[in-house]
Amino acid sequence: MAQNSPKEISIPARRVPVAHDADVVVVGAGPGGFAAALQAARMGARVVIVERFDMPGGVHTSGLQGSANTGVGGIHTELMERFAKSGYIYTATQDTLSDWAGNPLSHYERYHKPDQPFTRASFNPEGAGSVMAAMLQEAGVTAMYGTSFVDCVVEDGVGDGTITAIIVENASGRQAITGKIFIEGSGTAQLAASAGAPFIPGGGGQPETANWDGVKRPIPGGLLWIMSGIDFRRTAAHQKSASDPMLAKLMAEASASGDLPEGLYRPKMKGKNVYGDLYIGHPTIDMSPMLADGTFILWQNVPYEWALRMDERAEDESRARRALRGFIDTEARFLKKYVPGFESSVLMDVGRFVGVRDGRHPVGEHVFSIDDAREGRSFRDAVTKPMTKTFYWDNHTKYTFQVPFRAFLPKKVSNLILTGASMSFTYETIFMVMRNFPWCTQTGEIAGYAAARCIGKNIRPKELEWTEPYF
Ligand SMILES: Cc1cc2nc3c(=O)[nH]c(=O)nc-3n(C[C@H](O)[C@H](O)[C@H](O)COP(=O)(O)OP(=O)(O)OC[C@H]3O[C@@H](n4cnc5c(N)ncnc54)[C@H](O)[C@@H]3O)c2cc1C
Repeated sequence: MAQNSPKEISIPARRVPVAHDADVVVVGAGPGGFAAALQAARMGARVVIVERFDMPGGVHTSGLQGSANTGVGGIHTELMERFAKSGYIYTATQDTLSDWAGNPLSHYERYHKPDQPFTRASFNPEGAGSVMAAMLQEAGVTAMYGTSFVDCVVEDGVGDGTITAIIVENASGRQAITGKIFIEGSGTAQLAASAGAPFIPGGGGQPETANWDGVKRPIPGGLLWIMSGIDFRRTAAHQKSASDPMLAKLMAEASASGDLPEGLYRPKMKGKNVYGDLYIGHPTIDMSPMLADGTFILWQNVPYEWALRMDERAEDESRARRALRGFIDTEARFLKKYVPGFESSVLMDVGRFVGVRDGRHPVGEHVFSIDDAREGRSFRDAVTKPMTKTFYWDNHTKYTFQVPFRAFLPKKVSNLILTGASMSFTYETIFMVMRNFPWCTQTGEIAGYAAARCIGKNIRPKELEWTEPYF
């Protein structure tokens, strides 16, 4: 910035048109926001959802993650069934992909014994996004794609503030959407933060053991990409015949020829981190079968040492996008030029955004902590029956516990319900377990149900008495 440039400018106040008035307004159409909008609309509420990209699904569609699981009930099971019926689920097993179990190029199956049975199912992100968009339309949700949430209007009350409108930007310029109940589905608690709810920043709640140099860091985000035309049998044959399981020899060769810049493949982290002894997700190539035979999804993760806060700082997000795209381009060219089996491979797709794994954690009326899980706590306002989940970072221990509705209700805002990765969970709980696609979809369904009940009773979410589990 030039020396005399102003550090701030004022924007004159201006009036913006109200594009919609709704009962329930949802920001972001990831698994959480999508399921919330769908459920509230199915219960008769007038629902508007805003999404900056061109389809619902968030990290799992626009971000290419596409992780298919056994249905956990409700909308999640319905999704898996509709994806399957549309021909959008692809499954690899030991029979279709020999040499994959136990392969160190996979962070999912690398701990299996060679030839051990496995099932790796994924859904086609582009196809699944279209199915999800159709489901919202069938339910009568007004879905505004290509529309970014930028701000909200909050009326101060005696206790909590009340959101009266969100401000969005799209092809029509700046617009307002007014509503009664608002749902946070941005994946990074943007609406909660903008409405004045307190939050802990990503990395802020990280346990010391997750760091190797004493610096608290947000868990890096990642940019996913897809490559097809891979003959993995030839790659596996090379791994064995050249005793090169991690392709380190080929990498050394490429580095010596100037085809691999220093830092693309990073060393393992020292010390313990949430992924055990792995760099996040991997020190080298990290891939998983997806979409069709010969097609794989690959992960490019933001290096830990960059300590980026992509949910809060534009320069951090830009750096991640720019650098990770460069890494992907280099990695794709390296694989094609040097690695047997990749000769005919093509770079097919790159995710629309670098996903944030560890964004803001809003502080809710109850902050769900690791002790809630460890001590198997139950709550009078539990939203689920006791659930059993494996906490990887806690030595793969299984805990059985409940989650209270209060973890959906941010402090200081009266008419906002949280979902998905923006829930009131401490870092150790959300990062390890409570941010996967099935659970995020369940949280959305619960939030949509709660919002529609509130509309029906003309009450605020914090006045809703929650007496029995939803799931
Ligand atoms: C790199 C990475 C890998 C992951 N791997 C797995 C995995 O293997 N398995 C698994 O189950 N989970 C995985 N997760 C976790 C899971 O994807 C997320 O926790 C989950 O998607 C969160 O759901 P959500 O609905 O809260 O947010 P998101 O999925 O992040 O969706 C948020 C939505 O809001 C939209 N949005 C954001 N800001 C705005 C705005 N200002 N205006 C309008 N729209 C906006 C986004 O475009 C997006 O569609 C991974 C996450 C990341 C980042």
